[in-house]
Amino acid sequence: MPYAITQECCSDATCVSVCPVNCIHPTPDEPDFGTTEMLYVDPRSCIDCGACADACPVDAVMPIDMLTASLREYADVNAAYYEDAPALRTDVEPNFHEWAPVAFKRSLPSDFGPLRVAIVGTGPAGMYAAEDLLLHTNAKVSLIDRLPVAGGLVRFGVAPDHPSTKGISSTFERYRNHPRTTLYLGLEVGREITHEELAAHHDAVIYAVGASADRRLGVPGEDVPGSLAARTFVAWYNRHPDVSPDAIDLSAERIVVIGTGNVALDVARILTTDPGTLAGTDIAPHALQALRASKVREVVLLGRRGPEHAAYTTPELRALRQGVEVVVDGHDATIVDAIAVAADGDKAGVLRGLDTSRVDWTAPPPPGRRIVLRFESTQTEILGDQQVRAVRTSDGSEIPAGMVLRAIGYRGQPVRDLPFDEETATVPGDAGRVAGVPGTYVVGWIKRGPSGGIGANRRCAEETVGSLLADAVDGRLAPPKHGRRSFDSLARRRSS
Ligand SMILES: Cc1cc2nc3c(=O)[nH]c(=O)nc-3n(C[C@H](O)[C@H](O)[C@H](O)COP(=O)(O)OP(=O)(O)OC[C@H]3O[C@@H](n4cnc5c(N)ncnc54)[C@H](O)[C@@H]3O)c2cc1C
Ligand code: SF4
Ligand code: SF4
Repeated sequence: MPYAITQECCSDATCVSVCPVNCIHPTPDEPDFGTTEMLYVDPRSCIDCGACADACPVDAVMPIDMLTASLREYADVNAAYYEDAPALRTDVEPNFHEWAPVAFKRSLPSDFGPLRVAIVGTGPAGMYAAEDLLLHTNAKVSLIDRLPVAGGLVRFGVAPDHPSTKGISSTFERYRNHPRTTLYLGLEVGREITHEELAAHHDAVIYAVGASADRRLGVPGEDVPGSLAARTFVAWYNRHPDVSPDAIDLSAERIVVIGTGNVALDVARILTTDPGTLAGTDIAPHALQALRASKVREVVLLGRRGPEHAAYTTPELRALRQGVEVVVDGHDATIVDAIAVAADGDKAGVLRGLDTSRVDWTAPPPPGRRIVLRFESTQTEILGDQQVRAVRTSDGSEIPAGMVLRAIGYRGQPVRDLPFDEETATVPGDAGRVAGVPGTYVVGWIKRGPSGGIGANRRCAEETVGSLLADAVDGRLAPPKHGRRSFDSLARRRSS
């Protein structure tokens, strides 16, 4: 029985390299890699060896006959990817998939002394960079994070009801505890220690500091009390030390979430899921308590464009449909038409079968809890003086709500002593090299901007580490001025 990849896939491609018949695609060498929502097993070629399931860090692969009811559709989702695959040579040999040429892109000559590399940030990007350096070289790594707990968004972003995805942290933990790694928590670069100090103690510094601010809506009322960044809500239910346990008030019956990306789906799902099912997760106890007492019955997601352009990925929407009631506000006939004509696996197609009646916003939310997807709907103003009262949209509707969560994307913040591109909110550079600051590199969201799942950071780290090693071989890295012990005592003195 062939295997299938399912909802939690974060496209890190670990399974690709262990598959003996090369039947998991797209591989990192193929043009589609990074453009698909996940990776897919070709059921015609799979020999049922199970190697991919053993290797997957988030338990996303399983035999088709063991798929639970909620995941059963992934048998078809995997097979559908290969339906029109022109490269398949089934005419020649049923199990044929072309292998890419073998390449060793990241290594140092054997007589090279160990590099000392500082990595700032312990999220996926920093950890993939550490993994790459520790596995391919004899480098010594100083791993630094401003927070007292490591993990970045895997710890403080990924939703608690996605335990398999959070499970990737045990893979990263191996490299945090590696004998050539020293971990410094509670040490903020740019505040407690400077870039210059880091550079003076290391051959190279890699910044993996993510994107810790929010994009702004730019509409009147954006800062009315009760209008919050979804980032704050996410941090609240994930026990982020920067957000107080009483930061969220769930006394309103309706909440409007602006945006239709995966973060918007996460917050809507947490708000409407039966708290009993969240009890076994690592959700913050204060959040669980508040959700148990919550008055919220309806969460409305506003999307600027039609359902075919929604920002969520289809695996996330499929998962949402399993657990809570989801309806689409059919306020515009084009929305209903787009859903009717879409192909089954398309973003609009996965909405087929949902109630698409027009929602009457003058009426209170119906009994029970539900999520309303409202497409073709741009917010023009958030209404209310002392507290959010409603959201006005471009078609003149007024949606009464007691809270607004702005889920329109994260934004990178400037890193002290490094250049910053205000437009993209990233540190500019070339293949991970920071422009104009030799020996300094970036990886992850601060390099590419805040998009892409956990696995996308793996390829990104390979590129950055590749640039760093090439610079080392070419003699472009200045050796450290001070020893490791000196850094250790400096860092321990400064950390909070
Ligand atoms: C709410 C949310 C849910 C998500 N869920 C999923 C999911 O289910 N599956 C999936 O595949 N992807 C998910 N993602 C995407 C994934 O989390 C990102 O791709 C990934 O975290 C980006 O990695 P990063 O290392 O660049 O940034 P981050 O994970 O943000 O890590 C940055 C780290 O740098 C530290 N730092 C920042 N500034 C400093 C400083 N000055 N000094 C020291 N340390 C510093 C921070 O404390 C943090 O630990 C989610 C993203 C969000 C926002
Ligand atoms: S079960 Fe084996 S053959 Fe099938 S996809 Fe996984 S690794 Fe490849
Ligand atoms: S998460 Fe990684 S290893 Fe698991 S199925 Fe997806 S690409 Fe393969």
